[in-house]
Amino acid sequence: MAEHSAIEWTDATWNPTRGCTKISPGCTHCYAETFAERFRGVPGHPYEQGFDLRLVPDKLQDPIGWKKPRMIFVNSMSDLFHEDIPDEFIDQVFGVMGITRRHTYQVLTKRGERMRDYFNTVGKTRRLLEAQREMAKGHGGDLMNRAGMSMWPLPNVWFGVSVENRKHGLPRIEHLRSCSVGRGPVGPTVRFLSIEPLLEDLGPIDLTGIGWVIVGGESGHGARPMHPEWVRSIRDQCVAAGVPFFFKQWGEWAEDTGQVNEQGRDPWPHTWIDQSGSQWGGFDTGRIRLRRFGKRFAGRLFDGREWNEMPEVAH
Ligand code: SF4
Repeated sequence: MAEHSAIEWTDATWNPTRGCTKISPGCTHCYAETFAERFRGVPGHPYEQGFDLRLVPDKLQDPIGWKKPRMIFVNSMSDLFHEDIPDEFIDQVFGVMGITRRHTYQVLTKRGERMRDYFNTVGKTRRLLEAQREMAKGHGGDLMNRAGMSMWPLPNVWFGVSVENRKHGLPRIEHLRSCSVGRGPVGPTVRFLSIEPLLEDLGPIDLTGIGWVIVGGESGHGARPMHPEWVRSIRDQCVAAGVPFFFKQWGEWAEDTGQVNEQGRDPWPHTWIDQSGSQWGGFDTGRIRLRRFGKRFAGRLFDGREWNEMPEVAH
């Protein structure tokens, strides 16, 4: 979509496909859908067709023209492993990544099963080589010679799954682990978890082979609150396992800090939440008061500091 991005954990976004369909509760307030549907029917706009899924071959080779090395989030407005995106097109997307090793790519999906199946298919190496040749065409002729051929695992591609809850999210971690794309987290590729929006206590998480964890609360209309103990549990598990932890944002809701406006009136609506996620729930266990500060005021401090840890990867 854009060479530059406001997303806290990346530099740029690249959308060789646009649009998607919802698959699990983390999709309920999909920001990409909200954005895209605003432009449905606007002639000539990239989202003239709203959030309907489509391939955008014209955008495939954009990163080849980006000379400075960037961290690139692939498909911020779609899901690369959506069931309606053909394998051949996915091959071409990886073909571009293979011949632009100056960039680091972050591929994030909610379709962990499809990603696993794609990578565990016979012939993926041949397909990657063919796709790199195809994508290098028309770029000075000698791009292939300069870049050289890349093989699996592509050292500049990180793979991640979204994890919003136990039922839908935790199984995706197994799908990610069973992709034969690399040896992470100390190997050439990083496997990461984007735990956003965090919708409930995930309990114990098997972090074996996971090289990075991002956590965030939901923002936007209808955002669901996040209990600080859910975050604390994940943070503590990451610290114990030596996995870099990145706290992206509280989202709309954050723990009540007793702020008031100039008139002394409390301007923000509040709610109570317990560890089970019930709002206005029982009086017994761990209820805390959250306020709807809005994403900007809620900020991204957790336990008094920012958590900006990233994987250290040399390639
Ligand atoms: S998978 Fe991602 S892009 Fe697709 S609907 Fe869900 S949140 Fe939106």
